[in-house]
Formats: sequence, structure tokens, C-alpha cells
Amino acid sequence: MLRIHRLIITVVLFLSFNVFAAININPGLTGAWYNPETSGQGFFIDAIAENQQLFIGWFTYLSNPQSNEHQWYWLTAHGNYIDGVAELTLVKTTNGQFDMATTVENTVVGHASISFDSCLTAVFDYQLDEFNLAGQIPLTRLSPDVYCAENLNSEPSDPLAKNFPPVVSQVVITQLNNAIQIEYDLTDSEADRSEVNLEVLYGLNSSYSLPVTYLSGHVGYPVLNGNNKTIYWDYLNDSGFQDLQIDQFKLKITADDKYVSTLQDIIDSVSEERIIEDIQAIEGIRHHQAFPMGLNNTRNYIKAEMSKHKLLVEEQTFIHLGSQGVNIIGTLNAQPATDEVYIIDGHYDTVSSTPGADDNASGTAGMLEAMRVLSQFNTMKNIKFIAFDKEELGLIGSRYHAANLNQNELIKGLINFEMIGYTCSGQPECVNFPNADTSIYNIKSSFANTLSETFVQIGATHVPELKITAVTDDGDRNFRRSDHAPFWDLGVDALFLTDGANFRTPHYHQTTDKLGTLDTTFTTQVVKTAVGTLATLAQIHHTGYAVSDTLEL
Ligand SMILES: [Zn+2]
Repeated sequence: MLRIHRLIITVVLFLSFNVFAAININPGLTGAWYNPETSGQGFFIDAIAENQQLFIGWFTYLSNPQSNEHQWYWLTAHGNYIDGVAELTLVKTTNGQFDMATTVENTVVGHASISFDSCLTAVFDYQLDEFNLAGQIPLTRLSPDVYCAENLNSEPSDPLAKNFPPVVSQVVITQLNNAIQIEYDLTDSEADRSEVNLEVLYGLNSSYSLPVTYLSGHVGYPVLNGNNKTIYWDYLNDSGFQDLQIDQFKLKITADDKYVSTLQDIIDSVSEERIIEDIQAIEGIRHHQAFPMGLNNTRNYIKAEMSKHKLLVEEQTFIHLGSQGVNIIGTLNAQPATDEVYIIDGHYDTVSSTPGADDNASGTAGMLEAMRVLSQFNTMKNIKFIAFDKEELGLIGSRYHAANLNQNELIKGLINFEMIGYTCSGQPECVNFPNADTSIYNIKSSFANTLSETFVQIGATHVPELKITAVTDDGDRNFRRSDHAPFWDLGVDALFLTDGANFRTPHYHQTTDKLGTLDTTFTTQVVKTAVGTLATLAQIHHTGYAVSDTLEL
């Protein structure tokens, strides 16, 4: 119906198409829309705010695969919209006569979804089951932009606020007569469009990326959020595949929502304000006898902060001298799944008489902030964020954890934040302290280098303000005074990051260990460097994967 006028809008379309800030659906989008690349792909769209309903109607010409008849149909799509996406039911209406009281027949013929990039562009994603058709139509607004309000969009502008990678699930592959059909579900928390690609996995460790030439349906870019996506693969004509001469394989589906951040962006999103808030919340005696309530409140705070993010949050409890200890573990599971894990930790307990801002609210806050930043991404390795208990009683929580590892878990590395808050330079209180400087001590085991070297390199490149003193364990007892030690004993590449404790701060284990004495800019720089290190080693990405079962041809 709609290839009429205003072709000027065509110019706007593909220019703005790469900007994926999907907007919330609002009544201002009501009007005529069309695909300028084809003749006659036009829709009337009505967004009804009162009941959050979207209605789309159009006439079209379709071939019925059963009868092979070509025919005009009146099709409608209707359903609810939530934020930026409407999930729609497709209905065909037949019979009836103009201006006559005849009965029309409505039949559900498939489903669709639509989302809007802006007031001028949208993607309509359809599956017309009855006609064996599926695909996507990029749409441009034809009606004048009367009052479409992009500012009704409530998406947070801070990229860290939330953008989660897409999730691919429910992959089912079926061999048809002359094609392979791949069905899957695609979920993205922000309804971002994704680029979907397929890979054949075969043999022990081989793979073949499918060229889009032989694929049709919900593949390539853009694919909208939604369930029951379908791809058809013309595998018989795919010569690259035929050359492999394999008769059994799996298919891996990858969805990338094109959310791009550089390592520097990620590092820079570490927030000093949030670290200060954490230290304020945690500061105070946290001791099982002197003030168990302080310990308990801190546990609740850590669990609550972890639970705000996409983590599996668990408690690991143990008994030490009749009192219960609790390690709090937040796990960011890798995509795809793996046994390999990195750990970042800080202990949250104190000795009986100190508010423990530096020892070790600073380390706990650092671990929590690293958790907030890194949990925005998918990773190729699991990351565990651990708050250890009863460190001050002899590394009890970390020893218990190290002695009770999951059998199929391979720890690739551990970063232990043990007092990362205090710097001391030129102040009178520093005079008695031999290493009264402003660097972070990066103390590694004698048998592994990767973590330490990566930390130094990331620091030099991305956080040049941070001074790093790299040290290797030479058996000095002081190097074993925190939660990394039980992991060194297991042969783990564990890094002990410390401001030097009693060798630097006069407030060590004193009533004066308070936030006001700390250099939280320094703490933030240490956390930034650790975040960059883990982002690199655990290989963060913004892609979701799923792998099908094996298909035998
Ligand atoms: Zn400590």
C-alpha cells in the first residue's frame, strides 16, 4: 500500500542504521512505514499507549505452499510492547466483502516482532509459518515525524549501567530434504539487535564458519530478540562444507550485539565513588567475638551487592574453633562453558579492635567494584569474586576454600587484594616506615609469571599513574601473610597486591584505620589495573554462544 511519496526519507535509512540505540515504543511511532528497497513492503503501525499494544496492518500478495495459489491477503500483527520491543501474533483475514455484513475468517499464520532504532527506522522480524517464510524487513517511516519522541526512551546513557551480551539457547537442528533447519532462541536484556553467525564444529577440535551465501532466515545482521528463530542452510550447495566430507557435526550459533568497548573504556569505568561507598558501608569492627553484628552486616552487604549483578552467589560455610565462618562467592560463568577459572578476592573480617578501612574494607571494596565492571561482559574463563572470612585468624577461610575445590575446576590465576588503600609520601607519620612510598606491591610466586607480568603491562599502558613494585616470593614469611598463600601451595599463579601493611601504614590493626586516612584514588588505580588484567586474561567479549547436539547426516 505504501510506496507513495517522500522517498527522501530513503537517504536517512542506512545512515542511521548502524546506530543501535533502540528506543522505547511510544505512540509517536504511529503512522505509515515501508521498506524503500522493495516495492510495496508497507505497513500501517499504530502504537496504543493505554494498553501497551502495537497493531500493524497491511495488504500483501502471498503464495500458498499447499495450493500454490497466489493471492492477496489482509494481514495484521498485534501484541504487547515492553520497552523497545513488541512481540506480535500474525493473523490473516479472508472472506468478507466491501461494505457488506459478511463474516470474515481470521487465522493465526505466524508471529513477528518489531523494534525501533529511532523515530525513523525499525526492523520487522517475521515468521509466516503457513507460508514457509521468515526474515526481516528494515523499515523507514513514511508519515511525517509528527511527535515521535525519542526522549521517551528510558535507556540509561551510562554504558556501564547495563548492557548485557545476548544469550543464545534452545538450539535444535534438523535435516530436511534439501536443507538443514536450525532453530534457536535469542535473548538480549536491552533488546539490542545481534549479528548471528554459524560455525560447524567437527572432529576433535575443528571448525568451519558458514558463509552467509548458503544461509537464509534469522542470520547475519540484524537479528532481533525473540524465540523460535529459524535459519535454513543450503548445505548441499555449500562447497566449502561438502569438501570437508564429514557426516556428523555440531553447530555453534554466535550472537554479537555489537556493543563495543575498548579495554580503556572498561578500565575507566571503575568508579572511585562506588569504592568509597563500599568502604563506608563496610568500615567498622568485623570480628566474630568483638562485634559479630559488624561481620554479619558486612556479609549481607556483600551478598546484596553481588546479587545486583549477573552472578551465581553462594555462601561457603565452615566452622573454626566453634564459630562459623562464611566465604561469599559470586561466580561469573564463562560463555561457552569451561573449567578454567580466575579468582579475585579480598577478606572482609578484621581483628577485634579496628574499623579496618584499609585492612581490608579496601580490598573487599576493590573486589566488589571489579565484580560490577566485569560482570557486564561474557568471558571465555569463569571469574569468581570471593570475600574470604577469618583471614585474621590465620587465613582460615581461604585455606578452607583451597582445600575444598571443585574437582573439575582449574584455577588459572588469583588476584588477592590485601590492603590497597594506604599511600604514604612525605607525611610526618611516614618517617618510621622504610617503604613509605606510593606504589602497589605486586608480589608473585617463584613459579609463575603470567599474572604479574600482565598486571605490570596493563598498568603501564592503561593506568600509567599507578606505580607498581614487582616482587618475587623469596620465602620471606611476610609474603605469605594473606589469602593467596594457600593457593601458592597448590601451584596456582596467585598475585598478592598490597600497600605494604605494617611496613607502610601506622594505622595497621589500630583504631585509627579509617577511610579518612586512605588514598582512594590509589585504590581505584589498583582496581583498574586488576580489572584490565582479568578482562585480558579471562577474555571478555560481548557475544553469546550456544552449541547444538550432534547431527548425523
Ligand atoms: Zn588483612
